[in-house]
Amino acid sequence: MTRANSVPLTGDIWYHIMIHLHTLPSLQATLLTSRLFYTVFQAHRNSIMRAVASNMLGEHLPEAWRVVCCRHYDHTRPEAESDLKSIAFEDIHNGVTNMSNLNALHKNTQVVRKLEDLYSHMYDDRNSPISVLSPDESFRFQRALYRIFLYCKVFPGHLFKADDIAGQSDEVVAKIRNKRQTLLDVYSTEALYQIYSVVKFLGHIIERYCAEQMREPLLSTGPAGILRIWQAYSCEAVESEFDFELFHFWQENPVFEGYFSLPLENIWKKRGDPEYEQFAVPSTHILDNIVSKDATCPWCGYKAGLRMLNATNWTRLFVPIPTLLKSNLKRNPIAQEDVTSFTANVINSDAFGPFIVHLFSFTTHTAPEFDKWKSTDSYCFSCLLRFLEAHLWVWLLEEKLKAGWITPENCWYGWDCRTQTNRSHAERRNHFCAPTKGDSVGKLE
Ligand SMILES: [Zn+2]
Ligand SMILES: [Zn+2]
Repeated sequence: MTRANSVPLTGDIWYHIMIHLHTLPSLQATLLTSRLFYTVFQAHRNSIMRAVASNMLGEHLPEAWRVVCCRHYDHTRPEAESDLKSIAFEDIHNGVTNMSNLNALHKNTQVVRKLEDLYSHMYDDRNSPISVLSPDESFRFQRALYRIFLYCKVFPGHLFKADDIAGQSDEVVAKIRNKRQTLLDVYSTEALYQIYSVVKFLGHIIERYCAEQMREPLLSTGPAGILRIWQAYSCEAVESEFDFELFHFWQENPVFEGYFSLPLENIWKKRGDPEYEQFAVPSTHILDNIVSKDATCPWCGYKAGLRMLNATNWTRLFVPIPTLLKSNLKRNPIAQEDVTSFTANVINSDAFGPFIVHLFSFTTHTAPEFDKWKSTDSYCFSCLLRFLEAHLWVWLLEEKLKAGWITPENCWYGWDCRTQTNRSHAERRNHFCAPTKGDSVGKLE
């Protein structure tokens, strides 16, 4: 830097502090600390913002920059054809860096970081809620994700309304599909494998909270939209940016059919690898090593691997809550209604994990086999289910009593009673008790 622009001598120090900042919030906070910072920033806006962008994104800056700069492909504009060819090679030095761009870069880094944490937890290490990806794995994941970001921004789903889609001609659909292929065709085959693995991961998130036929259309909301679906436990999170009427037209909705897979299949076919799609899973071509691959349940010895469950992922356990009640209580209509209403504030929310942790405080009330089970341990699905079935009813009984339930006379068959499916019998007798008649009397759980 020179002092030709009349920045005071001490401005060098302020300048050097600012060009070493790594995030937008740290730059914003710095500007608020002193007028001198602001003066120097005003004199060197571009170079400081580029330096912060570069520190923030490192080697991902070119990909991340393209996401911020690109416009969506509009098949009705003739010039869109030439724009499309240059999109994947757009350079930060050709663009204008401003606070708005920097803010968009910052927001995308947050999305990428959160999705990497999630990806790492789902496919690498079930014990860690934050990413344990190696630098190489992280680079492959993030680069693929930024490329997906770009593709989804160029071909967003929100452009299409249900009425438009019903009226699209085959020619227009073929044109859009062709352009999608053009954008992806600039990447190496290896890079496309990586993209497809990350697309599979994003698809799994959508499938978890949305109907299967919504997977392809909702992929077009891009990484930020899909993260919102995950955080909200529902596809309603993207309702404002997507015409949900589209799903009624799914059968005749070719614009979204094979949103990623169709162009990729065509490219692989062209490049001599037509079978690739069948073998793709989210970890292929991204991970070198899977930490939890051989994880074994310490309570039953079952090798559950990536299906191991612990407090870091109980929040996402997807089981209808009445089915977690003990024995035939799960078929008792009153117990079903009570457990559903008493847990309404924790189901499908971040509070469900802590709720399961809380159930571990009831272990002393139940069978001795659970005495050593702790909320800090990992479990396979069937062991956790066994634990929940043995404890949820104890918690529910306590809640019912706290709410003023007057316990009726115990049913002889207790929680095993088959007649409790009948509402009037369920109301007249208490089934939150051990059987005193029947096959399981005196048996330990
Ligand atoms: Zn187990
Ligand atoms: Zn009964």
